[in-house]
Amino acid sequence: MNLFIETLGCQMNTADSEEMADALLKKGARLTQERAKADVVILNTCTVRDHAEQKALSYLGRLKDWKKENHERVLIVAGCAAERMKKSLKHRFPHVDLVVGAKRIQDFPDVIDNFFKTRNFDWFAESEESFDGAKMRTEGDTLVLGQEDETAFVTIMRGCNYSCSYCIVPSVRGREIYLEPEFILSEVRRKTAAGATKVMLLGQTVNSYWHRGPAGMTDFPDLLEQVEAIPQVTEIRFMSPHPHYMSAKLIAALSRTKKVSPEIHMPVQSGSNRMLTAMKRNYTREDFIQTSSAMRQAVPGLKLSTDFIVGFPGEAEEDFDQTLDLTRDVRFSMAFCFKYSPRSGTESAALADDISREVKEERLARLLAAVEASK
Ligand code: SF4
Repeated sequence: MNLFIETLGCQMNTADSEEMADALLKKGARLTQERAKADVVILNTCTVRDHAEQKALSYLGRLKDWKKENHERVLIVAGCAAERMKKSLKHRFPHVDLVVGAKRIQDFPDVIDNFFKTRNFDWFAESEESFDGAKMRTEGDTLVLGQEDETAFVTIMRGCNYSCSYCIVPSVRGREIYLEPEFILSEVRRKTAAGATKVMLLGQTVNSYWHRGPAGMTDFPDLLEQVEAIPQVTEIRFMSPHPHYMSAKLIAALSRTKKVSPEIHMPVQSGSNRMLTAMKRNYTREDFIQTSSAMRQAVPGLKLSTDFIVGFPGEAEEDFDQTLDLTRDVRFSMAFCFKYSPRSGTESAALADDISREVKEERLARLLAAVEASK
């Protein structure tokens, strides 16, 4: 059985693809880079922007002929767009065999077992079961699909407890669930044994991680120190931290560590408190400035990058000026700047998208220039 995986979207999806591949490799599948030769295709989708979802749908449309050539072939759609669209995907694309939403990736081994036994299409409904990371893999596997540049992606938590008004993620990935530290560490050991030297710890708000087990409480700073203690790990990164959880304890851990990269990406989105409130980000510009300055003192040579949204509904020129000011105060090494566009299913989609395209483009250009100038 030849397996081809197409992964759209973020690094969390790459890590999820690896988990799904793992389950199939254990059933004797082999990875192929040629879709035409595949018996099973997994399309792991993203829905964060409408464009990403359209890309997934158009990819599915193109797979119709592949399936027509041999009806024994299996087409699996997974991830965030699969979670959002659920059964409607099957109705729209009858050549899809199985839909596995982002909330059910951890159950993929059971889902796939059931599918191959029954060959029945099913939608595996939402569940709030506790997360049992240990059943996803056994130790000793060698697959490290998510490895890039010797970096192993390791998911430490799933979901998000925030409800940023522009973001679809909480509705497709659900509330936060945290993997056991022992499981995370065994994943790091497994992947470093397979050749990775760098580790990227992944979670939607990665630094909100905590886990209470028989050995007591482990929070994100504790976890960083435990990963650092693994000799084969030469560098640790994490993505994406939320400013609210960049605690004094975490900053102290960053100052002690020898292995955490000084390149940290921490999304701010806006420099205006009015916009931050409308976006429901749960921090102020003052909080962000204070936190980033404490990080700069703790981490020599810190390169702090960020994300911005320009043209959020109601963003006045004064709000945007505060965003420009923030770039001068914080001096980001890099910023991903996006023009706001409403995402259906989010709270802000109900607001009037009242900033014209021209103004958004003009603000975007000014913001990019300001980030460059402040470096
Ligand atoms: S913190 Fe906000 S932007 Fe990030 S995933 Fe959660 S809801 Fe979305």
